[in-house]
Amino acid sequence: MKKHLNYIGGKWVPAAAEDGTFEDTNPSDTRELIGRFPESAAEDVDSAVKAARAAYASWRLTPPPKRGDIILKAGFLLQERKEELSRLMTREMGKILKEARGDVQEAVDMALYISGEGRRLFGKTTTSELKNKAVMSIRMPVGVCGLITPWNFPVAIPSWKAFPALICGNTLVFKPSEDSPACAEKFVEILAEAGLPPGVINLVHGSTEAGAALVRHADVNVISFTGSSQVGREVAEQCGRRLKRCSLELGGKNAQIVMEDADIELALEGALWGAFGTTGQRCTATSRIFIQKRIYEKFRREFVRRAQKIKIGSGLKPSVEMGPLVNGAQLRRVHHYVETAVSEGARLECGGARAKGTGLSHGYFYQPTVFTHVQPKMTLFREEAFGPVVCLMSVKNLDEAIHLTNDSCYGLSSSIYTKDVNRAMRAIRDIEAGITYVNGPTIGAEVHMPFGGVKNTGNGHREAGDSGLEIFSEWKSVYIDYSGRLQKAQIDTE
Ligand code: NAD
Repeated sequence: MKKHLNYIGGKWVPAAAEDGTFEDTNPSDTRELIGRFPESAAEDVDSAVKAARAAYASWRLTPPPKRGDIILKAGFLLQERKEELSRLMTREMGKILKEARGDVQEAVDMALYISGEGRRLFGKTTTSELKNKAVMSIRMPVGVCGLITPWNFPVAIPSWKAFPALICGNTLVFKPSEDSPACAEKFVEILAEAGLPPGVINLVHGSTEAGAALVRHADVNVISFTGSSQVGREVAEQCGRRLKRCSLELGGKNAQIVMEDADIELALEGALWGAFGTTGQRCTATSRIFIQKRIYEKFRREFVRRAQKIKIGSGLKPSVEMGPLVNGAQLRRVHHYVETAVSEGARLECGGARAKGTGLSHGYFYQPTVFTHVQPKMTLFREEAFGPVVCLMSVKNLDEAIHLTNDSCYGLSSSIYTKDVNRAMRAIRDIEAGITYVNGPTIGAEVHMPFGGVKNTGNGHREAGDSGLEIFSEWKSVYIDYSGRLQKAQIDTE
């Protein structure tokens, strides 16, 4: 079996403690070992940061269109290897092949979009209050960026971080999730093959220890983190103590509203996709559905019927609609949320247990699970289960639906199904979330639009779009005085 290594300073190298490894297995069939990866420690992170710092000196001076050319090439390579990467992704973290292809496509889209930024990276030129003086703002790189990512979008999320960071002239240390190291390795291989100079991207495998060492490292200027709110809070605390820039993309408890005037068929399709796509393991997954009273019963019946029919199994099989949860801990966590919901008085309409059947006994498969009779004070209403678990609630009107949607510590994605433009516009205005879809599910972001949320979903930053450049660049204001004399702003007013 191939020996998997870290990538530091342009070389594939073992971790300093060579015997420390962790296993990456297929969640659809845990008998399949994908590989053994190095369990890195602070020493490895330090070597990677040193390599990134050394490479920064020339990468920051490489013209942005040249940086863009490399990113574009990486995009084409990702496109060429889409099938190979998608299959690896399905084996490694379980999402069905169709969705894995979408994940890789998102990285291709991001590469193409960001490569063009190499010829934009616009600043502003503006007027001066003084004569013979020019004024402009320009983007500067920040330095060495630490990228820490989850497993649920193992190629897309690294691309949302790496490509904008690179185009701005930064160098990187990438610490991927311990549940998707093989996809991360392929991603870095492609960037190296596209022509990224040694040290510009460095890959350090591992888990908490490696991630925490990267956050604490004195020579890392930015941390870009996507993951759970619990770890995000710790990352923010560590960065805060060091006055280190940090962007956090965290959890969600996303709601879909269905008004009585909605196209019910469309709303049902969207709700099923939003709740059970990627086995509910998306930060934008639909976990609460608020349905107007008059259509509630009809919607509930049909939603539960269709949820029970979802075909579960290995995502490599074309007929399968939902794959496994990512690992045993996630399976236990989801089941714990289900048990808690039952004990708090919610009614289990379907699911609520491991999925059994041919080909399912060696994987972390869980049934699509639907609850009703949920109250806002219940744990299931408030906390992110990150699995195929959703609750349906009847609402009197739009005001109540919006009130319940906003009754959450999170604010990532949201959705309303209605044919009434007035209702749609009120939802857009009043829902507290970073994303609102009208007549679409809570999932399905596009790379040229800002991505992120309000409240505990993050700390105010956005990834993707041109707003994704903000965390990875510093603004510099430039004043050029060509008057040949001392001119004092705010003082020489004549
Ligand atoms: P996680 O927080 O457990 O892990 C995320 C990453 O942080 C991993 O690489 C992990 O090794 C690393 N890590 C763990 N402890 C650390 C520490 N103390 N210091 C530094 N790094 C540490 O999250 P996960 O289970 O991989 O992902 C699921 C979570 O991610 C969900 O809550 C989901 O909502 C969230 N998510 C958010 C977005 C978004 O954009 N808002 C996107 C995808 C996933």
